[in-house]
Amino acid sequence: MFTLPELPYGHDQLGKYISGSIMQLHHDKHHQTYVDKLNAAIDAAPALRERSLETLLSDLDSLPEDVRSAIQNHGGGHYNHSLFWQWMSPDGGGEPTGELAQKITERYGSFQGFVDEFTAKSLAVFGSGWTWLQPDMEIITTANQDTPIMQGLEAPLLGLDVWEHAYYLDYKNKRDDYVNAWWNVVNWDVVQQRHVTK
Ligand code: MN
Repeated sequence: MFTLPELPYGHDQLGKYISGSIMQLHHDKHHQTYVDKLNAAIDAAPALRERSLETLLSDLDSLPEDVRSAIQNHGGGHYNHSLFWQWMSPDGGGEPTGELAQKITERYGSFQGFVDEFTAKSLAVFGSGWTWLQPDMEIITTANQDTPIMQGLEAPLLGLDVWEHAYYLDYKNKRDDYVNAWWNVVNWDVVQQRHVTK
């Protein structure tokens, strides 16, 4: 059975940029629903119990058709959100250092150049989806709860949830204000750890 991971900080601790109300709704309700519906899909196809979440998502074509879209949507939701909580911190913001900073600068000219492109791609996502920084330093987007490993790509270094449920309570329709605020909570330590272990 898949379970909802605890937040690595209090619900209110990102409050200046992302309110406790959003975190309660987003983590406790939305993410819990992805977990519950993923578990229901696995209950309906018990042969899949042995597979890890990564294995399930990396080979959607191998899944029984009657549970495939549920695992894509809710399994993707569980996978993406489990990472998303780790990518934020009350002590976040600033810039990466070391080899990651160097690679970002090589690819985007400067850290600000990277922020600008990641932000622009996040604002260009039509409807619900995610923006990702991949280990090869590409910035890509996916729709809905799709995730890079579903597309045969490596696991992302960093990702941003641009579903309205991630910001509407605080920012209404102003996704740009949400994205600009989010840079202040990005946990670069976690991004760097993911980069190093690649
Ligand atoms: Mn979300």
